[in-house]
Amino acid sequence: MKKPPLSLSPLKSKAELTASGIENLVRSMLQKHRTPFMIIKRCQLERQFERFRKALPEVTPFYAVKANPHPKILRTFLKLGAGFDVASAAEMKHVLKLGAPSDRIIFAHTIKTPEDIVTARRRRVRMMTFDNESELYKIAKHFPRARVLVRIKVANSGSVVELSLKFGADPDQAAYLLEKARSLGLIPFGVSFHVGSQSKNTENYLQAIELAADIFEAARDRDIRLKVLDIGGGFPIQHFDNEIGVNFERMASQIRQSLKNHFSRDVRFIAEPGRFLAGPAGILVTQVIGRAFRNNKNYYYLNDGVYQDFSGMVFDHCRYEFKTLRRGQKILSTLAGPTCDSFDTLALNAEIPELYVGDAVYVKNIGAYSSASAVPGFNGFDPAKLLVV
Ligand SMILES: *Cc1c(COP(=O)(O)O)cnc(C)c1O
Repeated sequence: MKKPPLSLSPLKSKAELTASGIENLVRSMLQKHRTPFMIIKRCQLERQFERFRKALPEVTPFYAVKANPHPKILRTFLKLGAGFDVASAAEMKHVLKLGAPSDRIIFAHTIKTPEDIVTARRRRVRMMTFDNESELYKIAKHFPRARVLVRIKVANSGSVVELSLKFGADPDQAAYLLEKARSLGLIPFGVSFHVGSQSKNTENYLQAIELAADIFEAARDRDIRLKVLDIGGGFPIQHFDNEIGVNFERMASQIRQSLKNHFSRDVRFIAEPGRFLAGPAGILVTQVIGRAFRNNKNYYYLNDGVYQDFSGMVFDHCRYEFKTLRRGQKILSTLAGPTCDSFDTLALNAEIPELYVGDAVYVKNIGAYSSASAVPGFNGFDPAKLLVV
C-alpha cells in the first residue's frame, strides 16, 4: 500500500507542536532536567528562518546576535546561510569563531569604540553602520576604506521597543554624510534603518523604504552608487496565543512589493531580524518553590524571575502568557520571582489554576531578549540552562 501523503511539510509538523505536544515535551524534559531551564527547539529556529526567506526571498537575513547569542542558535542560523548583525568586537569574535565568514557580518552599531573598529579591520569585517560625522572621522582613522552604511532615523510608531530616540541620522543629512565618508577615504556603501523592535506597524517599514530610496537617488546625484539597503529588524512575533495584529507574511509581502517598486535590481537587500528568528523557539520552564496568600490572592514564587530569564519584562517591555500543566478552575493569582525584591514580580493577575509547590509554570515564545540579558547569580539565583533540542 502507498503511504498516505504528509499533510504538512515535515519541518512544519515538527515545529508547530500542538498545545498537548508542548505539554508532553515540557513533561518529558522535567523528568531529565532541573528547573529552571529553557528549551530551544531547533526545528522552530529553522522554521522561522524559512518563513523569512520565503516571504522576503530578495532579502538576506543577518541574525541580530543580541537577541540570543547561544552558540547552538548561531550555528543553526550559520548552517542555513544567515549573516550576522553584531554590535561589538566581542559579538564579532564570537560569530567568527563559530565559522561565520567576515563578509557575512555587519557591525551594526553606530557608536563604536576605536578598539572595536581596529578589531573589525583586522578581522576584515568591512561593513558597518554610522549615523554621525564624528563616527566617520573615527572609522576613517582606524579603518580606511571601510564600507559604511548611514543609519537614518525613521518612525518607530507602535513599536514596543523604541530605537529612534538614541540612533539615526536625520534623513536630510544622509547624502551629505555619505559624501563626507567618501572624502575621508571610506566607501559609502548603503543605507540602514530600524523601525523599533516588535513593530506591528507595516507603515513604519514602507515609509522608511521610501526615505531610503530618496537617499539612494540623492547619493547618485553626487555620483555615489550605493549597493546595500539594510531594512533592520523589528519583525514581530506573537507572545500570547490570542494576540491579534501580528501577521508577518502580510507585512513582508508589502515590504517586498515596496522594495521592488523603489529599487533597481542591482541593489542588495539585507535585514537584521533578532526576535523573529529566535523568539518562537524558546520555552521557559520554571517550578513553584513556595506559595502564600496575600492581599486576598494566591501568591506563587517561581524559581526564575525578572533578574533571570524574565529580564525581558524590564529591558524588552515584554509581557508573557503563563501556562501550567495542572488543570482546574482558573483563579487570578500573582506570580513572583525568587529574589528578595518586590520588583521581582512577574504578573499580578495571571489566570491560572491553584498550584502547589513543585508544580511547573512555563512560558512559550521567550527565546529572544530573555536569557541574553539575564544577570548570573544575583541574590544567588542563576538563569535557566539552555537546552537546544
Ligand atoms: C536589536 C537590533 C536588531 C534586532 O531587532 P529585532 O527587533 O529583534 O528584530 C537589529 N538591528 C539593530 C541595529 C538592533 O539594535
